[in-house]
Amino acid sequence: MAGIQMNNIVKKYGDGFPAVNDVSIDIADGEFVILVGPSGCGKSTLLRMIVGLEDITSGDMMIGDKRVNDLAPRDRNLAMVFQNYALYPHLSVYENIAFPLRLAGASDSEVDQKVRDASKTLELDEHLERKPGNLSGGQRQRVAMGRAIVRDADAFLFDEPLSNLDAKLRGQMRTEIARLQKKLGITTVYVTHDQTEAMTLGDRVAVLKRGVLQQLATPRELYENP
Ligand code: ADP
Ligand code: ADP
Repeated sequence: MAGIQMNNIVKKYGDGFPAVNDVSIDIADGEFVILVGPSGCGKSTLLRMIVGLEDITSGDMMIGDKRVNDLAPRDRNLAMVFQNYALYPHLSVYENIAFPLRLAGASDSEVDQKVRDASKTLELDEHLERKPGNLSGGQRQRVAMGRAIVRDADAFLFDEPLSNLDAKLRGQMRTEIARLQKKLGITTVYVTHDQTEAMTLGDRVAVLKRGVLQQLATPRELYENP
């Protein structure tokens, strides 16, 4: 695990107005931070710069005590949890969670130990032989998180993971993500344009507007001083 520190991050596409303009956010180890703001405010761009999918124009991006500006995504040890969860439909829950370990050439016994531990934590141990198609949305989300925790990723990154769900399921999943994040204690950055999500999920909320960080505060502080 590790914190994420953004120092004066700027992103310019071409010669246009900066999509992200001098943003500094210090995310503590284990903290859950929400990036919120209207469409086009720069949330995804910022998240993509953390993951390494987008070049940083200027500023420093630190993960733990390592400057990662020039590191490829695969060398950053982060876990992006995608909206569609990106599970393999033909593989069991067990093999979906095991996948990154198999890629890394882990032994069968190491794979088994880690998959068992992760699935216990995520309350998936009853479902290891099932295929993703037979799981609920919440269970699929947990499989995706399981894949991240077996790798000992330093942080979870979510890009609007609930935006395709109906209101009821979205509410359930929100509760579930918040609960699991606390249980795992893993540094988490979560992008949403949904105010309710922003105010209920995280430890702190970063409000972006036209690429500029407007506020960085706890939900309580934002309620009291909107
Ligand atoms: P959000 O995630 O908050 O909707 P984005 O980060 O997607 O915002 O976009 C921020 C700004 O950067 C917008 O003005 C958008 O049009 C622009 N932008 C995003 N991606 C690109 C790109 N690949 N090329 C040029 N401009 C982009
Ligand atoms: P169990 O009910 O304990 O899962 P199984 O017969 O399914 O019994 O598994 C036998 C062994 O293979 C156990 O060590 C289990 O952890 C492991 N195992 C279970 N499923 C898989 C799988 N899909 N791939 C690899 N090993 C597995």
